[in-house]
Amino acid sequence: MNSELQASASERTEQLDQWDREHSWHPFTQMAEYATLPQLHVERGEGCWLWDTEGNRYLDGNASIWTNAHGHNDPEINNALIDQIGKVAHSTYLGLSHPAGAELGKRLCDLAPDSLGRAIFSDNGSNAIEIALKLSFQFWQQIGQPDKRLVVGMENGYHGDTFGAMSVGNSVGFHGRFEPWLFDTLTFAAPECVEVAGDVQQSEMESSLSELEALLSGNAGKVAAVVVEPSIQGPAGMKLQPSGFLKRVESLCRQFEAHLILDEVFVGCGRVGSLFACEGEEISPDFLCLAKGLTAGYLPMAATLTTEDVYAAFLGTVESGSGFYHGHTFTGNPLAARVAIKSLEKLETLLDTGRLDATIRHFGERFEESFRDHPNARSIRQRGLAAAIDLAPTEGNPPWPLNDRVGMQVCIEARNQGLLLRPLLDSILIVPPLVISGEEIDFLFENLVISIDSVMNKICS
Ligand SMILES: *Cc1c(COP(=O)(O)O)cnc(C)c1O
Repeated sequence: MNSELQASASERTEQLDQWDREHSWHPFTQMAEYATLPQLHVERGEGCWLWDTEGNRYLDGNASIWTNAHGHNDPEINNALIDQIGKVAHSTYLGLSHPAGAELGKRLCDLAPDSLGRAIFSDNGSNAIEIALKLSFQFWQQIGQPDKRLVVGMENGYHGDTFGAMSVGNSVGFHGRFEPWLFDTLTFAAPECVEVAGDVQQSEMESSLSELEALLSGNAGKVAAVVVEPSIQGPAGMKLQPSGFLKRVESLCRQFEAHLILDEVFVGCGRVGSLFACEGEEISPDFLCLAKGLTAGYLPMAATLTTEDVYAAFLGTVESGSGFYHGHTFTGNPLAARVAIKSLEKLETLLDTGRLDATIRHFGERFEESFRDHPNARSIRQRGLAAAIDLAPTEGNPPWPLNDRVGMQVCIEARNQGLLLRPLLDSILIVPPLVISGEEIDFLFENLVISIDSVMNKICS
């Protein structure tokens, strides 16, 4: 071991602090602010907990950016990974196959809505969306409808940070400055829905649906695809959709012959209490994109599922140029595929035993009790294992300036209480691993209330 690494824990942490400050550039992070904040180096994990290099323990309240399903360092997933490492870590999927990839493709298509029979792998959510967009674009050309190339996205949509994904998204704050480089898309208003612990407090979707209908009829014959994040727009701050909304979107897609692309990167793989968010409404999407939870928070892997109809349109001679020329060096990585297979198996158990349902019920109830009457919770929302609190000054007080970073202050204070969370401006987003226990849920909300109150006291004093 490097002699620097043998130094005492705090000397080592100081060294890491320095290397990190001098050479790392963290994503979605204002580095000038980061430089002023206490740093945290996560060293190991077990179950829903993470430990830093000083030995402090934290509950992983954002499931390591919405990926973790079965906890950290899970022995069964570890074993699946070790078993695969002993065989081969990577072999290309370009023109070759391997057992893990073939098994995962079969498993996903068996589990997904009946319309979906083909899986294309990639390694992140943005790419899963890019692939769906490119497939849709090329599909319409190859069946003789090249005018169909407009894409419709929804207000507040977020589909990733690559150019195609930014183009169909609506995250002005994240992507607005790249506008001149983005391709033109159409946007319809999001529906409204506020729900906590299964109790719908507000819901309106007719104006959203009529906007979508107007866009589709006003551009008849020109729309290739409609892209939506079903059930919850997570990155927008857990914006919920009323039940029945997705089915109506699907009907409009069918009526105007546009593809329906579902971005289940966040909501898929158990997050809302079912394997897929589109389950239960008998939706037949043309594309379904999975990433974040697919490998339970272990490895980068994404999948774009599509129909045999789409697949068939790409068959032809090599000379016809009708193949799909998009792939990545690590497409279908066998380690990630093995982990995904094991994770899906464990997820089915969580679903079949009713454990996930019970966890979600407890999560919703405790969330509601904790924040229903909180004077600084302007709005709260929850569905599945996802919740958001919009923090605001108590009534009659002026809004906080953006630079006060109240949401960030709460999350920094939460660390002192043994809780890791990430804010979205002044909203606190709560997305725990799927296996969080009742006691851990209690710990989470108790300490979040303490953290919020402590910051409020500081601000008001
Ligand atoms: C995270 C996310 C993406 C992008 O996935 P990456 O793996 O970060 O590229 C796309 N859509 C939704 C809904 C997401 O939450």
